[in-house]
Amino acid sequence: MKNTMIKRFIACFILCITTMLCGCAPEKEHTQSFFAMNTYMSVTAYGDNAQPAVQQVQSTVTQLDSLWSVTDENSELYALNSNGSGTVSSETAELIRFCLNISEKTNGAFEPTIYPVLTSWGFTTDENRVPSDEEISNQLEKVGCENVLLFDKNSDNGSEVTLSNGAMLDFGGIAKGAAADKAAEIMRENGVTSALINLGGSITVIGKNSDNSNWRIGVKDPFSDGNIGILEISDTSAVTSGAYERCFTASDGTVYGHIIDPASGRPVDNDLASVTIISENATLCDALSTALFVMGKEKALQFADANSKAMGFDYILITKDKEMFISGGAAANFTLTDKNGIQSIIV
Ligand code: AMP
Ligand code: MG
Repeated sequence: MKNTMIKRFIACFILCITTMLCGCAPEKEHTQSFFAMNTYMSVTAYGDNAQPAVQQVQSTVTQLDSLWSVTDENSELYALNSNGSGTVSSETAELIRFCLNISEKTNGAFEPTIYPVLTSWGFTTDENRVPSDEEISNQLEKVGCENVLLFDKNSDNGSEVTLSNGAMLDFGGIAKGAAADKAAEIMRENGVTSALINLGGSITVIGKNSDNSNWRIGVKDPFSDGNIGILEISDTSAVTSGAYERCFTASDGTVYGHIIDPASGRPVDNDLASVTIISENATLCDALSTALFVMGKEKALQFADANSKAMGFDYILITKDKEMFISGGAAANFTLTDKNGIQSIIV
């Protein structure tokens, strides 16, 4: 009797140790870095399917880039902009529909037809220049979502798009977010439950990290090279917009950023230094970070107050005079690490 109990105890002990060892076995990790959509991207996944999932993400993002690049002469978007009409893939039609919807909701602050103005400032060729007022107003005449018509044919035949009045589309303010949503979909289809998708600063995390804790994501300090703080998140996305990302200095010393105010046709120069949007929907994060940056502090706060619950997003607005407006949902997961003059206001 005593022997049996000892044997059972030993068996139980061995089982516990085996379970503990299996539980601690490191998960397979796979990381891939690549260049697409004009930026460096890095994707890491954990688990048995990490490698095929990451590879599929890279090929899908590269494929989306070849559809949506505004400068690649072989892209679907380039053909559409050059011809003024055409049949587009379901991915492109879905993105155009999203753009038109967000443009309407943001009262034109998000403006997917800003491309002619962007070209005048040289942001598409990196040969930057300051256009004349006359050139800007001529280009602005082509801008506006009323110039974009999207007809859905049946699902096999794609969708028909017509651009009137010289309008041209540019997905620069939304493509990385849309690609991140596709990447997250691929991860989930592959059964990946832990992944970090960084598409040039558009961050999407799947599940928790390999330590089973929330992912710790640095939020860029718009005034210096470091981070302003850390967001601890799981199963969500965070995207930041700021003029510092791409800008040029004119001969008179004025710095011009790549986000254009569609009301003036000039690079945004308001009281905001950066906008971070946090949401389960990366496409929404990307579009709204651009749009709220265009709006400026007062309008952005009003928009967020009216829409953040219904649209499902949190936000961090940093003003040029170093105030940080953070929504309650974001504040619960955010630690301010750079207290250097930043005053945090929970909204
Ligand atoms: P983001 O870095 O996501 O804020 O996007 C900036 C990019 O969006 C620019 O480089 C342009 O390609 C494009 N863009 C500039 N101004 C606007 C605007 N008002 N609405 C939509 N896209 C814009
Ligand atoms: Mg954006």
